[in-house]
Amino acid sequence: MADCIFCKIIKEEIPCAKVYENDEVLAFLDISPVNKGHVLVLPKKHFENIENLPDEILCEIARTIKKLSKAALKAVGADSFNLGLNNGKNAGQLVQHVHFHIMPRFENDGYKLWIGKKYTEGEMEKIAKSIKKNL
Ligand code: AMP
Ligand code: ZN
Repeated sequence: MADCIFCKIIKEEIPCAKVYENDEVLAFLDISPVNKGHVLVLPKKHFENIENLPDEILCEIARTIKKLSKAALKAVGADSFNLGLNNGKNAGQLVQHVHFHIMPRFENDGYKLWIGKKYTEGEMEKIAKSIKKNL
């Protein structure tokens, strides 16, 4: 897409700190990292979100994440990472070109995981049933 910043990076119209590429997938460092070594992994073709992304490309992205996460952790001396996908506006997706975040984590790095909410009586079963029905 012409006005997509990640498509511009893929076309090399904008520079990036590239760490990996193959025919389908590109990975580069996030310009504003959660921690050093924060990598973005994305399809070279423009797809807005995971719903539009063909399964074969998703598999290629998953393979890339597995391989790259090891290398990224080694590079920055971390032993843990969070894998992120901000899918849609209310999930905080800022760039409308689907991308996964590999975010190295360190002991006492100041981040906390999200806070868990509670279900009301029977709500959990109802939602689980509804999810299964919508598959
Ligand atoms: P989100 O869409 O919320 O998953 O976040 C988009 C991510 O892209 C943010 O973490 C940004 O720091 C990152 N980002 C935006 N522009 C660039 C760029 N030119 N190079 C590298 N990372 C970028
Ligand atoms: Zn794009």
